[in-house]
Amino acid sequence: MIALYLGLALLLVWSCQGFFAPTGYRTISYSQFKAHLARGEVERCSVGETRVRGQIVPGLGADGMGLRPETLPAEPEAGPEGLGPFAFQAVRVEDPDLVRELLQAGVEFDGIQPTLIGPMLLTWLLPIGMIVLFWIWMSRRLGSASGNLMGFGKSPARLAADLETQVTFDDLAGCDEAKIELAEVVDFLKNPDRYRALGAKIPKGVLLVGPPGTGKTLMARAVAGEAQVPFFSLSGSEFVEMFVGVGAARVRDLFNQAKRQAPCIIFIDELDAVGRQRGVHIVAGNDEREQTLNQLLVEMDGFEANAGVILLSATNRPELLDRALLRPGRFDRQVVLDAPDLRGRKAILQVHVRGKPLADDVDLEKIALETPGFSGADLANVLNEAALLTARVGAKQISQDLLEEAVEKVIAGPERKSRRLSDDDKRRVAYHEVGHALVAAHSEHADPVHKISIVPRGRAALGYTLQLPTGDQVLQSQSELLDRIRGLLGGRASEELIFGEVSTGAKDDLQRATMLAREMVSVYGMGESAGLMGCAEPEPLYAPATGSRKLDCSNETAREIDIEVKQLLAGAYADARRILEAHRTDLDTVASELLRKETLREAEFRHLIGQDASGGTGSAPEPSS
Ligand code: ADP
Ligand code: MG
Ligand code: ZN
Repeated sequence: MIALYLGLALLLVWSCQGFFAPTGYRTISYSQFKAHLARGEVERCSVGETRVRGQIVPGLGADGMGLRPETLPAEPEAGPEGLGPFAFQAVRVEDPDLVRELLQAGVEFDGIQPTLIGPMLLTWLLPIGMIVLFWIWMSRRLGSASGNLMGFGKSPARLAADLETQVTFDDLAGCDEAKIELAEVVDFLKNPDRYRALGAKIPKGVLLVGPPGTGKTLMARAVAGEAQVPFFSLSGSEFVEMFVGVGAARVRDLFNQAKRQAPCIIFIDELDAVGRQRGVHIVAGNDEREQTLNQLLVEMDGFEANAGVILLSATNRPELLDRALLRPGRFDRQVVLDAPDLRGRKAILQVHVRGKPLADDVDLEKIALETPGFSGADLANVLNEAALLTARVGAKQISQDLLEEAVEKVIAGPERKSRRLSDDDKRRVAYHEVGHALVAAHSEHADPVHKISIVPRGRAALGYTLQLPTGDQVLQSQSELLDRIRGLLGGRASEELIFGEVSTGAKDDLQRATMLAREMVSVYGMGESAGLMGCAEPEPLYAPATGSRKLDCSNETAREIDIEVKQLLAGAYADARRILEAHRTDLDTVASELLRKETLREAEFRHLIGQDASGGTGSAPEPSS
């Protein structure tokens, strides 16, 4: 942008110069001018501040009027026009003797009145003009960034009375209870009089809670779409800005707007950004958030229950919210949107395949079975990935194979065919993965092995073993957890057994096994050292687990827990090794088959180890790499 203005200015300067420099002069060098002068060929000239202009008549001084011939410099190169008289101009150089020489040669000469307009334009008007232009440009940039200087406190809430997208309850699936709860709100917004006549109070605030990607935001938009009322949507972080006091002003403005438009919905997404417990974290900027929260509390009390304004809000960290927000009269109704179960997943898949051409072999039930723990957003992602993969292979319809490929891509990352492993590494990876699979297959409570692969995927996995639970499971027993740990350690046990040495490949497995063992001892009361004492800090309810949890116990207990965890892991490892030693031939056959085919499916694997279908349960699919 600046470059553009500079360019314009330069253009202006050039055109000015062109304008002020009259045409018709032949430009010669100063030395040529002096040579002509010495030969007496200069008829007349005018000497300006920067230029000498005049008329040259070649051959004029041949009559001896000029200087002595021996001092004559060489004949200057003749101009293209040959010897005719011509008007010249030359750039003037510092030459104190010029006047004397001109007098001597008898040239008729005068000065040039310097023009004032040109230099003035260049030195004064142009810079000022550029500064003005720059100023206008800057203020425009700033203006679009932060709105009018006077409008800071105005809420940027988007008013979407008829949502362009027209989301309805039909676009959500697998959350029927939530829909029933919210249908009441929709009904109230449509026929408030019926509820008023009965003296029924509709909650002022409804809080949608649940893990990320379960459709909270979508649900709020669907409520607005169903009720067809004005919908003010704002995210929590938009309240908290650089300037102190803006958040509170925004809350006030938002509620004023809403009250004028009742009945209507106010939706505050990611409420935890403003609604965190007060006085817990003492950091800069806290004041501002507290003020905003206080204003929100005040405003929520400030309107009547049946005024027709309903506040919807969404968060995945309800445990962080200030108590005052959750008391009756404010957000007194909580609607939970949890990760969908098998039926829910199938229904969500059916919502998202609308408008996508499916091949006849597609079995959404099977896909739903393969995706325990997936949220609605994950499932939407699977279908989108499948569509992209289909486009990549140039097919017209999404096939079951590509759908399953998409599921694996979402779980473990994209295939990395270009990652070439040496034959040694490949053999090691194969034995490692088969180790996982075999230990799992010979543990009573482990999830059945769904797939073994040595195609590298994602960032780290060189290969992976995918185990899938047979149904939705909420509780896990002690033996299931133990079998899980054993399966995780199977990879390393196999490497040690076959190669007599371990590699770095088991890093993730060890981490995961340790985390599980730690939880068994310190959270679930399944160990001796902590007994029934739950001594790990609580985890966030709906946010993903971070892995390491702070212990809340004495140092002695912590040490004992460490020792017990170590023993537990060692015991599981010994078990895993024993299983593999007992099935050494299976280990070799399956590994060589895996090296040949790169992936083995459940049926092939079972056939190779001579097992027939057997039951087993577990939770979310986690590939062990
Ligand atoms: P959240 O706000 O809970 O994090 P979103 O509402 O933004 O999640 O959901 C993200 C996307 O996931 C939605 O746009 C939708 O495509 C899909 N999705 C999530 N839950 C569902 C559901 N229950 N039914 C259909 N689609 C869903
Ligand atoms: Mg959201
Ligand atoms: Zn592994």
